[in-house]
Amino acid sequence: MIADAAGPRLAEFNELWIGSILWSIASCPVNDAEEDAERKRYLVALSRAPVLHPLGQWKGHKLCLLANALFQVQDEVPEMWHQVKTCWTQELLALAELLRSAALEAADPQRYRLRVQATELFHVGPFYTRQFLELLQIKEASHEFVTSARLHLQEREASRGVACFASFDVMVNGTKVVKEGLFLTSPASDACGDQLPLVSVALNHDRSGHAELKAMQWLLQNLREASVPAGKSLREVSGHMSLHVTHHPCLSCLGALAQLQGILPQLQLYVSFDWTPGAARGGCDAAHEDAEHPAAVSPSRGAHSGGCFEAHFEAKIT
Ligand SMILES: [Zn+2]
Repeated sequence: MIADAAGPRLAEFNELWIGSILWSIASCPVNDAEEDAERKRYLVALSRAPVLHPLGQWKGHKLCLLANALFQVQDEVPEMWHQVKTCWTQELLALAELLRSAALEAADPQRYRLRVQATELFHVGPFYTRQFLELLQIKEASHEFVTSARLHLQEREASRGVACFASFDVMVNGTKVVKEGLFLTSPASDACGDQLPLVSVALNHDRSGHAELKAMQWLLQNLREASVPAGKSLREVSGHMSLHVTHHPCLSCLGALAQLQGILPQLQLYVSFDWTPGAARGGCDAAHEDAEHPAAVSPSRGAHSGGCFEAHFEAKIT
């Protein structure tokens, strides 16, 4: 129905509109196989929009929308998918290189932010975040950890907003430190949201209150408390940290993960995430969520919890 209605006017759509419409349909929750088939028919029909042919110079968020939307119908549109996938793969490789190199450079937050903003990306989408994490050599968290994390998140009803469960097991200053904690995304105005040395990037909106960033800052805070008094370098810290997020991490948080790797080269990071079709992520401002996912519908909109480190920690130091 959507495709039929839009058909005569597809030529009038600009790139971002058609990308947003495609993604809105691709991320719409479906109840059964019949609805899923119907959704795919819409995607195939809309992929014929003139603005998509030839593909041209698509990049950034527009290309991300297209790649994640057509991911589900790649077999039905093989020629177009080949073009999209080629462009998108190149973009992901360049992005991984940018984040890796930026993390290794001397601290220059302003330059770093400008470089990340210049990518015109906000994230790499639910269907490509796992692949991108692998490019950063960040492995998937264990099934056991993810199961435990989901239970903690459910207990706190953290799924109403974007939340992160984290645990780390590290050796610092000759002592093994094991902790776990739950972090909730809070308003961008959060006073402790953007603590150095991890730099967040405003992409459409401030992302300094994101749960994943708080978890990483919490790790560094713990390590500093344990190592700085002894004159130890953070580069000597070994061990691992696991994160499970209720949404795929945004580009600001992916960049922070790369920064953390630079600060703690001997730490192995494991990251997993859930993604629910139709669930939007963004700042606490619903208008900003609209800008990122124009037509996404989220029952959790506006439900982000506030408060600096408003989370409980279960600490075990051995
Ligand atoms: Zn984020």
